Amino acid sequence: MDLFEYQARDIFEKHGVPVLGGVIATTPEEARNGAAELLGRGGSPVVVVKAQVKTGGRGKAGGVKLARSADEAFERAEEILGLDIKGHVVRTVMIAEGAAIAQEFYFSLLLDRANRTYLAMCSVEGGMEIEQLAVERPEALAKVAVDPRVGIDAAKAAEIVAAAGFEVEIGAKVAPVLVKLWDVYKGEDATLVEVNPLVLTEGGDIVALDGKVTLDENAEFRHADHAELEDAAAADPLEAKAKAAGLNYVKLDGSVGIIGNGAGLVMSTLDVVAYAGESHGGVKPANFLDIGGGASAEIMAAGLDVILGDAQVKSVFVNVFGGITACDAVANGIVKALEILGDAATKPLVVRLDGNNVVEGRRILTEAAHPLVTLVDTMDGAADKAAELANA
Ligand code: GDP
Ligand code: MN
Repeated sequence: MDLFEYQARDIFEKHGVPVLGGVIATTPEEARNGAAELLGRGGSPVVVVKAQVKTGGRGKAGGVKLARSADEAFERAEEILGLDIKGHVVRTVMIAEGAAIAQEFYFSLLLDRANRTYLAMCSVEGGMEIEQLAVERPEALAKVAVDPRVGIDAAKAAEIVAAAGFEVEIGAKVAPVLVKLWDVYKGEDATLVEVNPLVLTEGGDIVALDGKVTLDENAEFRHADHAELEDAAAADPLEAKAKAAGLNYVKLDGSVGIIGNGAGLVMSTLDVVAYAGESHGGVKPANFLDIGGGASAEIMAAGLDVILGDAQVKSVFVNVFGGITACDAVANGIVKALEILGDAATKPLVVRLDGNNVVEGRRILTEAAHPLVTLVDTMDGAADKAAELANA
């Protein structure tokens, strides 16, 4: 889960990373009030109005603007709210205390999957052009492996600032901030912590002026407080419903709803349906949905409920390979799921069962003779039928 900058700022503050004051606003009036409050603290004569969108390059896109008064903050917020930055419409701005920047640096810490370690990247040339820097002068971007068992301690921080080529005196100020950023990374179970720019102020302080944090959703169970960081407004309503039901669902653009058991089988089902769709008006899969190994009637019903709630869906392909949960149990699950859903089940279902106890499973569905259900024995045949029905 990617965080907004203001959420990253709050987390930085919690772990002792130096940041400046910031408040969020969703209207120009709120921005004026927020600016008045920050300017009233007397720490800085300017504030910065910053678009809160989960994409980089906000500065270049006109999403970061200085304001010298509360009224100016109102005007800048009026300009920035509603702005479209790379397809992200700005709904919230952060009003931040302004910094007098002497130098801009770059720091990030991320998961290096290929090397089974973490990787710290650091440069004395931070600011807006870091991607360009990485391409044109990669030597200016230090890359230092970080052992997950040790993390960034004082010695590792010293190694990173030395590799990045900091002047000794500045490096000595930056290093303890890197140790705190490691605290953020480890303490919050992040997979990315990026600060660009990390600045040296005219006053000689090191401050994180921007923050990008990605949290590892697999660690959610350790962080009850992370749930509230989720951007409910951006979540797809069907995905939200599936998540609430504990289903592994991803909404796609097509019209053939897909249910399968096992991520690998569902992935190949998507491919087979996309291929079959080429002969049926180009129909495509409407979703990924893996109901897992123990496909009970309740889980099947919850899955069908989510898929049938997708207005784009015209047909549903249920592709199950019976394993520990045998085909007869799955077939009973489908029959019961259709009972549970009753009139809510409105779209044709193509069911392909194979594997453990397949004969019994098919017998159960044949006997139930539900008017919406078509049984097809092969995966290719079932995909073709589902695509045909979606195109009808
Ligand atoms: P990004 O473009 O999305 O990465 O947004 P940033 O938060 O990094 O802001 C872009 C640029 O705006 C920074 O690199 C700074 O040069 C500038 N900036 C941001 N905050 C301040 C500030 O408090 N004071 C000044 N003078 N410049 C700022
Ligand atoms: Mn930035």
